[in-house]
Amino acid sequence: MGDTRKNETVDRAAAVTMDLADPLGSYRSQFTVSGPIYLDGNSLGRPSASVIEALATAARDWSENLVGGWSRWIDLPAAVGDRVGRLIGAGPGQVVVCDSTTVNLYKLAAAGLSARPDRRVIWADADDFPTDRYVLQGLAQASGRQLRLLHGSAVDGLDADVVRSAIDADTALVCLSHVNFRSGARVDLAAITEAAHRHGALVLWDLCHSAGAVPVDLDDATADLAVGCTYKYLNGGPGSPGFAYVRCDLQDHLRQPVWGWFGQEDQFAMGPSYNPTTGMGRFLSGTPSVLGLLAIDAAVEIVESAGIPALWAKSQQLTAMLVDLVRSQLEPLGAALASPTDPHRRGAHVSLSHPRAWPWCKALIDRRMVIGDFRPPNVIRLGPAPLYTRFVDVFDAVQRMAEVLQAGVEDLSDRPRVT
Ligand SMILES: *Cc1c(COP(=O)(O)O)cnc(C)c1O
Repeated sequence: MGDTRKNETVDRAAAVTMDLADPLGSYRSQFTVSGPIYLDGNSLGRPSASVIEALATAARDWSENLVGGWSRWIDLPAAVGDRVGRLIGAGPGQVVVCDSTTVNLYKLAAAGLSARPDRRVIWADADDFPTDRYVLQGLAQASGRQLRLLHGSAVDGLDADVVRSAIDADTALVCLSHVNFRSGARVDLAAITEAAHRHGALVLWDLCHSAGAVPVDLDDATADLAVGCTYKYLNGGPGSPGFAYVRCDLQDHLRQPVWGWFGQEDQFAMGPSYNPTTGMGRFLSGTPSVLGLLAIDAAVEIVESAGIPALWAKSQQLTAMLVDLVRSQLEPLGAALASPTDPHRRGAHVSLSHPRAWPWCKALIDRRMVIGDFRPPNVIRLGPAPLYTRFVDVFDAVQRMAEVLQAGVEDLSDRPRVT
């Protein structure tokens, strides 16, 4: 079995050939690429030359125009929101870029809950990213609701049927990630949305691990609410603001809980009390992060130009190759694939488990060989971002990972350190 697999596995020359045929191959030159093989674009994307230039221009603009710049900056949350919206199947006027994903999740979940006052239950994934679960725990406690957790497979994720059978007339909100942060397992966004709607519940989607790499069509699915990151596959930079989507016909019926002047009807009238503006503006709270927004604007332009269909096609090829190599080269050395084997259930990253995952991952980083990331208890995540990762990078990364395992990870320290 091991031998047959080996024969089917791609060799380095085949990886080089795939790079030569890659229609997105030229995009890599827009990024500064050096050092170890970077397979962590799903955690923090790389800066493009255009983003670095946009930040320098923004700093000059600030320095020259000072407060006068606001006439051009004030509409950025909506303008950049529309641009991000096009990448997730959202028509104009339904996305704003502001705050962090955590804060946006809080605002939209709270808004959704207030729209379902008589329902007691919030459903979430027990295996979702911690911040999502914590926000929902806090909201459940503050609003006297019950947060109930769905349990799926650690590798294959949640089964749509498990979600379907959980939702009933007492469900106020279902909050799920489209792609799981640890395993990369992907759920059927449209099917789950439809199931929730059948029972009158609202769904809040977290698109952190989808936006910029995995196709999402929010309008087509009649999705209600969504949030996500801009610093992962969208390459907006460390701490660049998150985004929030609210379907157009829901916007004026929902109220988010952080009443700030940026959501106010006549912001500069500086009036005595809060009266939310119409549309997506009411989901804003305070002063937007202008530098972050200008960086996102430049970063998203590249994603837009490559196009989600082409990025997704390449991502699927990259992850298929990675899965193939993990199984043929790393499983015989004691690692195991920790992402779905079925490509239809995967997102854009691949995870593997190993009893000594932490020292293995750390050795790869310390020796400047491969940058992936460790996720407790025993998982290494590898995100070959399709915009700037070559097939040969994936091939070489696996060889280096095998090399470290072969040399032995038994004697390395196994205490994760916070860095
Ligand atoms: C990355 C990520 C976040 C990050 O939230 P921040 O508020 O930006 O720290 C939240 N949820 C999920 C699912 C993520 O993958």
